[in-house]
Amino acid sequence: MPELPEVETVMRGLRARLEGRVIARARIGRPDLRWPLPEGLGQRLTGARVTGFRRRAKYILMRLDRGESLLIHLGMSGRMLIAPVSDAEPVAHEHVSLHTDDGWRVGFVDPRRFGSLDLVASDAEDAHRLLAGLGPEPLGEAFDASMLSAVLAGKRTPIKAALLDQRLVAGLGNIYVCEALFRARISPLRRADSVAGARAARLVPAIKAVLTEAIAAGGSSLRDYVQPDGELGYFQHAWRVYGREGKACEACPGPPACPGIARVVQSGRGSFYCPRLQR
Ligand SMILES: [Zn+2]
Repeated sequence: MPELPEVETVMRGLRARLEGRVIARARIGRPDLRWPLPEGLGQRLTGARVTGFRRRAKYILMRLDRGESLLIHLGMSGRMLIAPVSDAEPVAHEHVSLHTDDGWRVGFVDPRRFGSLDLVASDAEDAHRLLAGLGPEPLGEAFDASMLSAVLAGKRTPIKAALLDQRLVAGLGNIYVCEALFRARISPLRRADSVAGARAARLVPAIKAVLTEAIAAGGSSLRDYVQPDGELGYFQHAWRVYGREGKACEACPGPPACPGIARVVQSGRGSFYCPRLQR
């Protein structure tokens, strides 16, 4: 599932190709994805100029010169393709294709159809039902230790579950939460409301660092942002704890050696952590 850094990378790839361009043609292949597509989507996109992009949590907003923004959510399996219009045959599961006035085709491909597309007034993007309840943006300047402590106050759930709650912090997924908690030396099992003071002061920069590094890695993969298969924004990353159950973490001083990265299941998702370093 694409997480915030992947979505940011996809957005930057779309921006590089689409900003300033006119959508010459829109092919809408089906009436719905996760939810019904907006009424007249094709007509409302055709002829519009793309004026800018913004990411909010795991959503991409593509602003048009008609006062509307296209809200894009990749869901579980959604991806964006960029190809020359001469390759105009849609690939499997390419439900929506936009052709630009300079000869490119941008396709929304989603085999499982948990993704969604909607139109929202550009001056009221954050009032959209999918965005309205989201917590603060973890890479935003306002997100600091005191804001994090405030959103965690009174939360008796484990910190792992709290960080995955999009109403508390927007856009964090399982992998990046595991990695950020490792860097901050905080156990995923720790009660959320005990993450304050020095712990919150460690956790905020850890969250920002794992996201920023992943975005930078995605950016380097964007050097050729039209990859051979035309797919945007997915890249391999070296995780420090995620998926490394039983292996020594890289940070334990020894001897004795690291007891090995542990895996526990919380809210149905695997949490990976070093039981010695993370408390
Ligand atoms: Zn360790």
